[in-house]
Amino acid sequence: MELTKQWRDHFKQLRAFDEAISLLYWDMRTQMPEQSAPLRAETIGYLSTEAFKRQTSDSFKQLLEEMEAANGLTATEKRSLQVAKTQYERNAKIPASEYQAYVTLVSEAETAWEKAKEQNDWGMFAPFLKKILTYQRKFADYFGYDAHPYDALLYDFEPGMTVAQLDDLFETLRDELVPLIRNLPGGTASLDWSMNEKAQERICHDWMRVVDYDLSRGRLDATVHPFEITINRRDVRITTKYDEADFRNALFGTMHEAGHATYEQQIDESLDELGLGGGASMGIHESQSLFFENFVGRSIAFLKSVYPNLQAEHHALQDVDFETFYAGVNEAKPSLIRIEADELTYSLHIIIRYELEKALIQGDLSVDELPAAWNKLYKEYLGVDVPSDAKGVLQDVHWAGGSFGYFPSYALGLIYAAQLTESLRAEHPDFETWIATGEFAPIKQWLATNVHRHGKTLTPNELIRTVTGEDISVRPLVRYLTSKYGTA
Ligand code: ZN
Repeated sequence: MELTKQWRDHFKQLRAFDEAISLLYWDMRTQMPEQSAPLRAETIGYLSTEAFKRQTSDSFKQLLEEMEAANGLTATEKRSLQVAKTQYERNAKIPASEYQAYVTLVSEAETAWEKAKEQNDWGMFAPFLKKILTYQRKFADYFGYDAHPYDALLYDFEPGMTVAQLDDLFETLRDELVPLIRNLPGGTASLDWSMNEKAQERICHDWMRVVDYDLSRGRLDATVHPFEITINRRDVRITTKYDEADFRNALFGTMHEAGHATYEQQIDESLDELGLGGGASMGIHESQSLFFENFVGRSIAFLKSVYPNLQAEHHALQDVDFETFYAGVNEAKPSLIRIEADELTYSLHIIIRYELEKALIQGDLSVDELPAAWNKLYKEYLGVDVPSDAKGVLQDVHWAGGSFGYFPSYALGLIYAAQLTESLRAEHPDFETWIATGEFAPIKQWLATNVHRHGKTLTPNELIRTVTGEDISVRPLVRYLTSKYGTA
């Protein structure tokens, strides 16, 4: 069989596994009868193992070697080979028995973390975190790195990103944000954000229509924890959580997930056969959801256009002028919990986690010192006192899940989104008018051409440079936040 056909067949097979697993998972989270849970988990586990075996088998190794020796590969095939080879080598470097023990540890750690958080008891979780860190440092050594062990862990989330680059970006951003937040004006009027579920559902569908999320290749359902999931390029689904006490969660959450989904829907379909479908990185993916949620959804142009409809659905807003409503939707203030943070303070939550986990991996900070170090940084950067570990160092599942290197992607998402939005505006001064009049097709087209269709063919660094002509920079984000939240 012709070599490149064999190569493509490998990824087609993997895509079939992916589709089956994703659909089973989506069903599990949205429709499945409760009693089915253990059997479903077993099925998903079996299919995942089978898919993993195909990526690590001797026959795949041989195929890799043949591809490396082959002549006349296209640029995209070469990129496919490079991505697959790196992943293969990373998988192969961890001894199977060690990996098995690690998977078991992480699943125990997640259970321990849940209880520790519930009971506000750091001591219940600390021993697990110590063991996880030992593994993470070992994995970093197996993967290999030049300057910092954390660089080796970043690859899974943000290929090509390094500690040197992150230090530079995050220090600048931190130094700009801390004084900006300190000088925020006092609180905004408290409004009634309650709304019944049916009305929220109608508005979510309205907003999805405005931003042109393609529902002929997607759908919206309700779940406890919202997510986006790709079944295949033509079936990208999202979920949202309806909170009758505060409709902002469902509305902006839906915009967020629709941003992720639109990215997935617009990736060049042919890249799936080369293992290059999916987003360029976690951070680039997040930039697309944050573009929809913040740069469009929380903008004056968009909110003005949807406000009359919102007032008609929610009578408590009928006497509220637009300026008050806009200020309420965009209220920024330092807080304790990352997932509840606004777009202004959010990055500082991430920078704190980044500084801590980098020090943990490097060995400059011990697990026993972590809670105090956490509280100190929250005071220093956000000016808040952390009342308990449950509302502090225990709030996120990431470290229990062994996801070291993941947090930076969230702040990078904001940084990338601001850079991309500046370029889009510079090319299209009509940007605001398009949003105000609900003409979203040209915006989607710009995103497809410049960001979405490329899939994994470009790294985040390459993508940002190609689209904006500049390296990754925090300047556009600082400009955006200063003009929106600055008092001067
Ligand atoms: Zn997201």
